[in-house]
Amino acid sequence: MRLWGCMVGLGAVLLAVGALAVRAPAVGAPAVGASSSILEMTPPIGGLALANLRDMFNELHNGHPHEAIDIMEPRGTPVRAVVSGTVRKLFLSKPGGNTIYEFDEMEVYCYYYAHLDAYAKGLHAGQRVQRGDVIAFVGSSGNADQRTPHLHFAIFELGPEKVWWKGKAVDPYPGLVAAVKRTK
Ligand SMILES: [Zn+2]
Repeated sequence: MRLWGCMVGLGAVLLAVGALAVRAPAVGAPAVGASSSILEMTPPIGGLALANLRDMFNELHNGHPHEAIDIMEPRGTPVRAVVSGTVRKLFLSKPGGNTIYEFDEMEVYCYYYAHLDAYAKGLHAGQRVQRGDVIAFVGSSGNADQRTPHLHFAIFELGPEKVWWKGKAVDPYPGLVAAVKRTK
């Protein structure tokens, strides 16, 4: 009887281990280190609520994996730097419109803001920004629908070359949820 109970217990442990294995970080969601800037993010939009966030990292948009989150906001809503770091590149792209690539202090992650209506006055590549600084305004530039302005926000883990155009997409949803909860 005792042995049976023990074996049931062992079975439960094995099941739990199996569940953990299944839930191990998938591609695109690397484990986040204790010093990761993702853990220190503040929301890119003031007054953001959990209801404004939906995990859409794996959705297909225009036939491509989205690998980002869209936050619907009125045109002109200030967009704030989610971490302190450096504006590495302001780039006008056909799909993204006016975009910002921001590196964190350690140059581990790149934070990407797209479909911007405009940049904050004087914003330029190489500029140091503090977390919470207004860096741009929500819009629908690029391939966004004019009727649904939104912030397209993504996070990339930079490769060893530390170049703004190359990185591995990380799902921004969990980090944003945590950031919103910290503001409550
Ligand atoms: Zn998007």
